[in-house]
Amino acid sequence: QAKRFGGDRVEPFRPAFRDGSANVVQMEADLHRAIERGQISLVYQPIIRADTGDVAGFEALMRWNHPRRGDVPPSEFITIAERSDLIGDLGAHALEMAAMQLMEWETALPDAPVFVSVNVSSHQLVRRDFTNQVAGILARHPQRTHTLRIEITETSLMQNPEQNVRVLERVKALGVDLALDDFGTGYSSLSYLSRFPFDVLKIDRSFMQPVSTGRDALLKSIVDMAHALSLTVVAEGVEDEDDRALLAEMGADYLQGFITGQPLDPEAAAALVARQVPA
Ligand code: C2E
Ligand code: CA
Ligand code: CA
Ligand code: CA
Repeated sequence: QAKRFGGDRVEPFRPAFRDGSANVVQMEADLHRAIERGQISLVYQPIIRADTGDVAGFEALMRWNHPRRGDVPPSEFITIAERSDLIGDLGAHALEMAAMQLMEWETALPDAPVFVSVNVSSHQLVRRDFTNQVAGILARHPQRTHTLRIEITETSLMQNPEQNVRVLERVKALGVDLALDDFGTGYSSLSYLSRFPFDVLKIDRSFMQPVSTGRDALLKSIVDMAHALSLTVVAEGVEDEDDRALLAEMGADYLQGFITGQPLDPEAAAALVARQVPA
C-alpha cells in the first residue's frame, strides 16, 4: 500500500483512501484555501475547425498548483470538491476566470472571436443560485463577439433531468452556449438528449481508440444524427493525423485533442489566436 503522506513527493490519488482518510482530509483543507491563495488557474486547450484548421475556441481546464504536490490534475481534486460542496466556489471561480479571460481577449483581439468552454459539474447545476451566478458573471464581464460556453456530461444531466432542462434553458437565454460533454459514455440516445437545449455535442475521446471494426460507421452516424438535430460536433481526443482526416471527411465540425495542442496558459493561447488574425 502507498504511504499516506508522501513528503515532497507528488503522490497519485488513491480512491481507497477516499472515505475519511487523512490524505483526503488534508487535500480538502488545502483546497479550501486554494482559491484565496491564488493556486487555482485555467489552462486552455485549442479547439480547431475541422475544415480549415483555424482555432475557433478553447476548452478551459482547471489546474491546482499545490505548494508541495505541484500541478494537481482535476481528476484528483474535482471529486473531493464535489463531495465536500467546495465545487460550488471552485466552479464559480472557473466561470469567473474564463469570462474575465474572454473579456480581455475581446479587447486585445476584437477581430478574432473565440469561445471558451468551461466544465460544469452536476453539483453546480442543481444549486438554486446557479443561473444568477452565471448572470452575475456575464454582467461583470460582458461579451459582445466572444462566447462563453459550458460543458455538461450526460451523467450529470441524468441526476435530475427535469430540473436540469429548466436550468439549462435559463442559462442559454443569457447568451451562453451549451455543450453536451463526453457523448457516448452514457446510455442515453441522442433523441432523448435532444430534449435538452444543447448547441454542441462533444464525442467522447474513447471513440478515438482503434477498437471495434464498426467504429467508423458509428462515428459517422453520430455526426449525421447530431447534424440532423442541429448540433455542432466537436470530436475529442484526436491525437493523430489519420483520425483528423477521417473526422474531417465525416463532416465533424471541430476537433480537439493532442493534435490541436496541449492545454496552454492564457498568454500562449492568446498568441495562437493573434497569429491567425489577418493583417
Ligand atoms: P474532459 O472535460 O473530458 O476534458 C478533456 C481531458 O482530456 C483533459 O484532461 C485534457 O487534457 C485531456 N485530453 C485532451 N486531449 C487529449 C488527447 O488527445 N488524448 C487524451 N488521452 N487526453 C486528452 P484534464 O485537464 O486532466 O481534465 C480531466 C477532466 O477533469 C475533464 O475531462 C473534466 O471532466 C474535469 N475538469 C477539468 N476542469 C474542470 C473544471 O473546471 N470543472 C469541472 N467540474 N471539471 C473539470
Ligand atoms: Ca469537458
Ligand atoms: Ca470531454
Ligand atoms: Ca488514433
